[in-house]
Amino acid sequence: MANLLLAGGGHAHLMVLRDLAKLTRRGHAVSLVSPSPWHYYSGMGPGLVGGTYAPKDLRFDVKRMAESGGARFVAGSVARIEPQARRVILDDGRGLGYDVLSLNLGSRVALPGVVPDGRSVFAAKPVEGLLAAHSRLETLLSGGGVVRVLVAGGGPAGVELAGNVLGLAARRGGRAEVTVLAGSTLMPGAGPRVKRLAGDSLVRRGAQVLTGVRLAGVEGATARLGDGSLREFDLLFLAVGVSLPGIFAESGLPVDASGALTVNRYLQCPAHPEIFGGGDCIHFAPGPLDKVGVYAVRQAPVLAKNLGAALAGRPLAPFRSGSRGYLLLYNLGDGTAICAKYGLPLSGRWAFRLKDAIDRRFMRAFQVSGEAQARE
Ligand SMILES: Cc1cc2nc3c(=O)[nH]c(=O)nc-3n(C[C@H](O)[C@H](O)[C@H](O)COP(=O)(O)OP(=O)(O)OC[C@H]3O[C@@H](n4cnc5c(N)ncnc54)[C@H](O)[C@@H]3O)c2cc1C
Repeated sequence: MANLLLAGGGHAHLMVLRDLAKLTRRGHAVSLVSPSPWHYYSGMGPGLVGGTYAPKDLRFDVKRMAESGGARFVAGSVARIEPQARRVILDDGRGLGYDVLSLNLGSRVALPGVVPDGRSVFAAKPVEGLLAAHSRLETLLSGGGVVRVLVAGGGPAGVELAGNVLGLAARRGGRAEVTVLAGSTLMPGAGPRVKRLAGDSLVRRGAQVLTGVRLAGVEGATARLGDGSLREFDLLFLAVGVSLPGIFAESGLPVDASGALTVNRYLQCPAHPEIFGGGDCIHFAPGPLDKVGVYAVRQAPVLAKNLGAALAGRPLAPFRSGSRGYLLLYNLGDGTAICAKYGLPLSGRWAFRLKDAIDRRFMRAFQVSGEAQARE
């Protein structure tokens, strides 16, 4: 029987993790390697900052999912892959062999030279870091003074984080001075109406949105902006877009310009047919995909099916990304959201209720290890 190694317990692996018993009952040995026993659902991350959600609302117990499905959980991070030896090396030097490897290592939000410290500088990803940001905000807001929050990045994550900081401050009766360093423009890639709805919501609630301004560096609690000016802050969020780990290129695997693992329509690495991948960490060669959780989740059933097929020597199924795009819902943190699809973006409380219902339904489908009742 074969040996399957799942690297990373992200969105694209949730289906295979939930249905693991199908593989282990056939005698396959399965291991999951992940730095944490928990995986956090990013769609609800900004709501965690705003206090709408508690950690148990948005996390999956991937360790328990693995173990209850008969797999082994290995706490650790993949540092390197040795495809010729069919072995993965972890950051502490341990080696894990495989017959079939599936990579779901996600992406990070990083800015060279700016290091999240869990106290005043936080990155939008990994999402578990936002938990500490929420606690810190609560502490600062309860101090009574004005809390100066800088959000670097004006994309969806930056807008949602800024909106949720404002929402938390309003609900706590605190004062937050929120500045969004939007880079080229607020909500790049979105249509003019989404840009306007997002900007109006933030500005109406007192935020300052600086377009054409980027974060250039940080010294202590002072940010250096691209125009040379300095800004002091109490809390800084990095939401500057995603970057990928250099692991694949360093391991000699085929990658695109961003370092994402190149896969074919079967989510399979063409140079090493025993390696598969899904989510933000792959480059889908048949047609590049946005780095959104929607695609990781859509890939999950195909990945699960193909891993089973690869172990059994059966034919693989292709992944179809869908031609109708996807529904975008942005949580503005004040009980409203922007709904963008079908060419007519709208915002309102109904849009947040829709997002909340979709997100909670997704959580229910994969929170199969008692997370909702679990320890905080
Ligand atoms: C604030 C925010 C809000 C977002 N909201 C939405 C949204 O509403 N809708 C949407 O579609 N997209 C959203 N996104 C984008 C979404 O987060 C990503 O597209 C999604 O997380 C990709 O899923 P993934 O499984 O590829 O990676 P991830 O969710 O990043 O999961 C990767 C997993 O791999 C693990 N891992 C990482 N490195 C290693 C390693 N070296 N070894 C082993 N394990 C490792 C991590 O711990 C993690 O559990 C949002 C992003 C942010 C930052």
